[in-house]
Amino acid sequence: MNKIYLDNASTTPLSSEVLNEMMPYLTSDFGNPNSLHSFGRQAKAGVDLARERIAKALGCDANEIYFTSGATESNNWALNGIAKANRHKGNHIITSKIEHPSILETCKKLEREGFRVTYLDVDETGLVRIDQLLHYVNADTILISIMAANNEVGTIQNLQAIASIAKEKNVIFHTDATQAVGAINLNVHEMGIDAMSISGHKLNGPKGVGALYVHNGVVISPFMNGGEQEFGLRAGTSNVPAIVGLGKAVEIATRDIIVNSKKLRGLRDYFIAQVGKYIPMTHLNGHPVQRLPNNVNLSFGMVEGESLMYMLDLAGIAVSTGSACSSGSIENSHVLTAMGVSPDLAQGAVRFSFGKNITKEELDFVVEKLIECVEKLRKISAMSKSQVGKEDE
Ligand code: PMP
Repeated sequence: MNKIYLDNASTTPLSSEVLNEMMPYLTSDFGNPNSLHSFGRQAKAGVDLARERIAKALGCDANEIYFTSGATESNNWALNGIAKANRHKGNHIITSKIEHPSILETCKKLEREGFRVTYLDVDETGLVRIDQLLHYVNADTILISIMAANNEVGTIQNLQAIASIAKEKNVIFHTDATQAVGAINLNVHEMGIDAMSISGHKLNGPKGVGALYVHNGVVISPFMNGGEQEFGLRAGTSNVPAIVGLGKAVEIATRDIIVNSKKLRGLRDYFIAQVGKYIPMTHLNGHPVQRLPNNVNLSFGMVEGESLMYMLDLAGIAVSTGSACSSGSIENSHVLTAMGVSPDLAQGAVRFSFGKNITKEELDFVVEKLIECVEKLRKISAMSKSQVGKEDE
């Protein structure tokens, strides 16, 4: 059975171009970039090139890029590091209700440490309420952290508007762009973004590596103490092959952005239209157009997302759900809940996230299987409902 992987928002396969770039650093060029001999210099050249490639892709200077172990670390560091280093200026942070747990949990921790955090609402499409941002930002606000694009529903925020407000109010603006790099243009200097998190494994790069961009002049405390790596702010011997892979992956993703987004947008809209045509009671979660080119999040009425996910898996199709079973009860996605999606529809939510090589034929096959699976699950659901009706009689 040919498997179809539609869970690229979760992770992506490593591209062969990236692997080729990494290979020498996994074998012959194994030196420590801090060593002064030729082995060290060779490794350092790889790290330097990666930093330059990312800086070019993001529109910033190379010395504004710090390598990390992934976006979770970048987010933790950005929030903790900026909040603590700027505490003398104020005590208030603004974020949104639909952020990734690596932002939300860090905010909760900062609250326990005495910071005040405002969690902005979103509208029914997943867009942050700009009127609320304007209402809550005040002289005590030191940091605004709003994600560039949501990992569940794909909604792309009005980043430029948020960055402009932050600039006007003299507040540092961080964005979690983990899902957005390679999908939307992100020129951090031009847009006035002060800090930004990215991750390797979401853009056909390796896992366990990411970066944090911090604009020169923004004060941030170190993430780890020790050696002088990463300009003295993130100590520890660099993961050279992974860093080299991240650099190449970001370069490719931004190089191919126009072609890939155009193709994916077309296929995304085709898939949404086909599902809507053949499966009644479907609901598109997220923004109808201002969404990631590779994201489709659908709720199927009278269907539990998890059951559908398992049935599709048996048919060789990998997707993910918006809700997760925790200790016997179904916990709905905090993103869908914040968007006001009803608990029933939230439980029926399934995320399809395409890879750049997806084809129309594959999507036609997915639609065919979806029709079968949803029909079966609705029959079971109707039968169990009528059974409950009988028991009540
Ligand atoms: N932020 C967002 C929006 C994400 O989608 C993810 C990954 N699911 C992360 C942060 C965490 O990234 P990493 O796996 O690199 O730690």
